[in-house]
Amino acid sequence: MANNILLADEETHFFGDVCKNFDYAAQFTKHDAGLLDQIKSCNSVYRFRFPIRKGDGFEVIDAWRVEHSQHQSPTKGGIRYSEMVNEDEVMALAALMTYKCAIVNVPFGGAKGGIKINPKNYTVQELENITRRYTVELIRKNFIGPSIDVPAPDYGSGEREMSWIADTYATMNPGQLDAMGAVTGKPIALHGIAGRREATGRGVAIAIRECVSVAEDMTRIGLTTGISGKRVIVQGLGNVGYHSAKFLAEFGAIIVGLCEFEGAIYNADGLDVEAVFQHRKNTGSILGYAGAKKEFKNSMEGLEQECDILVPAALENQITDTNVKKIKAKIIAEGANGPTSPEAETIFYSKGGLIIPDMYANAGGVTVSYFEWLKNLSHVAFGRMNRRFEETANTNLVNMVEGITGVALTPMQRSTIIKGASELELVNSGLEDTMIRSYHEIRETYKNTEKIDTLRTAAFVGAINKIAVSYKNLGVWP
Ligand code: NAD
Repeated sequence: MANNILLADEETHFFGDVCKNFDYAAQFTKHDAGLLDQIKSCNSVYRFRFPIRKGDGFEVIDAWRVEHSQHQSPTKGGIRYSEMVNEDEVMALAALMTYKCAIVNVPFGGAKGGIKINPKNYTVQELENITRRYTVELIRKNFIGPSIDVPAPDYGSGEREMSWIADTYATMNPGQLDAMGAVTGKPIALHGIAGRREATGRGVAIAIRECVSVAEDMTRIGLTTGISGKRVIVQGLGNVGYHSAKFLAEFGAIIVGLCEFEGAIYNADGLDVEAVFQHRKNTGSILGYAGAKKEFKNSMEGLEQECDILVPAALENQITDTNVKKIKAKIIAEGANGPTSPEAETIFYSKGGLIIPDMYANAGGVTVSYFEWLKNLSHVAFGRMNRRFEETANTNLVNMVEGITGVALTPMQRSTIIKGASELELVNSGLEDTMIRSYHEIRETYKNTEKIDTLRTAAFVGAINKIAVSYKNLGVWP
């Protein structure tokens, strides 16, 4: 198979699953087989090894950066720090990034990175050495830069690692004005953007709220319309899982179950997400939380409890043909990348369920990363130039309306109407708009194309069509 020629000796599953979904969706498009092959294949796979000092000796680290598609520049995708990471996984995640960017109209190609370590086994100094050396290796091969390839956080990495990458890149490229645009997910104090940390989880929550607002679809799967009171189980209490749970609770859902790798907890009346998070931080485990009515040492049992919506937000391949029949949720909203196998998806739909696919559901992160990149290139925070101007214009308008009508607004009403938008408000509004529009774009394809039987296939069809247009416009040169 053309897609596998770059693979090393690992077994291929995840990338194969992504390609399987792609091939299935491609039959609903009208593109040339060669063009489809070009879209599906990973364009560049960079596998490398480098040494770090560990104790009195050395340790060799395996790492990857994959650029799946350069139909748009730069390419974009997170860096995974995990001892489980392999070439197949990085290729699959890079491919998903390509489709994800197309779905939410972010003008990037897809990429992904991987460093094969368990961060818990390294000191902060060692992690900094690994991250900086990884960045230098990318620079040496021209695999990073604000117009080339822009990394971001993923499983096992966060703002701290992005800071080290930004600093290494800027140091190695003295005087490059846009150097901070070489990586996103940075802390706000280092040219990051308000709202990026929580963006993926916020996006997941908006995606679910939008999905459950469509009466026709809810009737079909046997749920009432609206997010209020929906019972949710979340797997993974990291960046995506924690924020998904937090915003879903804010929207009115009840978080009945939380699963981490050490176990799972459940309470039909609801769990306080923040309290569970603090409990885990203090004790090192989700288990033993006083507000839980049930505990499971086998974390996977947590996924099988009574609920309306399941949000897998940890890792891939969590819902397979072996456990999907035990899942009681009607909706699976994929916070993680690739949590449901193709076989499990078929079974889940045949049971009358609905899956909000990863490449749409977790696209909030890359959407706000795009905003951060724009901010870095423009060198000005969103809202800075127009906030005061808007407030003055709004004040004049309110004064005029009060004068004409003779009705005086309360100070609270006045300040709500007059206030100009902050960076956070603009980012959240842009994110919400993106998630809502994209959901309905996917759903239109799902409802209006005969034989398209899942939201994932509909999402793929939309993405393939958009990427095909880019390739056709670009032509082939030389
Ligand atoms: P993270 O490292 O912040 O959190 C992952 C959490 O999952 C950790 O708390 C970990 O302990 C837990 N976990 C690991 N194995 C588990 C298991 N078997 N059962 C239950 N919990 C388990 O990572 P993250 O950034 O939240 O990423 C999670 C997923 O979301 C990944 O698939 C990632 O690719 C995807 N994603 C992340 C982002 C982002 O902005 N961070 C964006 C899009 C997609």
